[in-house]
Amino acid sequence: RGADMLARAGERCVTADGTRIEVFANLGSADDAAPAVARGAEGCGLLRTEFLFLDRDTMPTVAEQAAEYQRIAEGLEGRPLIVRLLDIGGDKPASYLPILAEENPALGLRGIRVSLAYPAVLEDQIRAILSVRPIGQCRIMLPMVAGLDEVRAVRAVLDRLRAELSITDPVALGIMVETPAAAVTADLFAAEVDFLSIGTNDLTQYVLAMDRGNPAVAGGVDGLHPAVLRLIGTTCDGGARQGRWTGVCGGLASDPLAVPILIGLGVTELSAAPAVVPEIKALVSTLSMAACRDHATAALRCDSAAGVRTLARRFAKEGA
Ligand code: PEP
Ligand code: MG
Repeated sequence: RGADMLARAGERCVTADGTRIEVFANLGSADDAAPAVARGAEGCGLLRTEFLFLDRDTMPTVAEQAAEYQRIAEGLEGRPLIVRLLDIGGDKPASYLPILAEENPALGLRGIRVSLAYPAVLEDQIRAILSVRPIGQCRIMLPMVAGLDEVRAVRAVLDRLRAELSITDPVALGIMVETPAAAVTADLFAAEVDFLSIGTNDLTQYVLAMDRGNPAVAGGVDGLHPAVLRLIGTTCDGGARQGRWTGVCGGLASDPLAVPILIGLGVTELSAAPAVVPEIKALVSTLSMAACRDHATAALRCDSAAGVRTLARRFAKEGA
């Protein structure tokens, strides 16, 4: 099985019946890129840029950021690089960005809200991304979006900087779907962005109103909860209505029990932890779309995450 996985490492991933599913990797540093490609990643579906901003006393300069993004782009050898804008907040503080202590950091100034509150942070990060060559390899993704006004504010900065830098090529702009608001109104977002990528870690926490880091509720924080799955379905439908692709970059994309359901709901890009990319690619290549759709329909009718997991284990055993 290991040799088979390695042999597939260079292949474009498709289901058994030929539907294209992109299998990307989540990266958290420049050193992660080349090993992810060696494991068969077809690109990076989530670059967590926090590594550049945390554990230091000053903000990284445009040049520092640009060098790191360029190095990662080169490590990916031309494959797509989806750069998530800074996602810090009250729980992950940076001394040079004073964010007042918050009673509910998960509901406070975090994600894209920080970038909009500190326009220099947003502008520097976009400048650095726009400096990467070739233009077009990097796509920009906004974390923790709740409303279209946030997308429009970033789009305005992006367009201004493109004009200033004489960049005429389009630069893809997408959102992470991590709030129930973004999932429910995915069709509205899809009319104005190029792609949707579901952050199932945060989406689950916000849908179930359970802190993803609180051990007291850890047993309940399961992205296979039917409420989360229904919102994933709503997101895919909203994206498809506007001709936009929907991916998953949260933990569900790395969960072999979840993958057939996600594909059945309409997800066409999975960004997984680098270590499991070979396994996810091998799994996808065994699936048929018709079986995944039926399986997803059954999962949406379950009344608990445990019920979905039981169903998914049966599907895994009995095959697609
Ligand atoms: C998510 O929330 O699912 C996600 C991918 O973002 P992070 O885990 O970095 O919050
Ligand atoms: Mg998140």
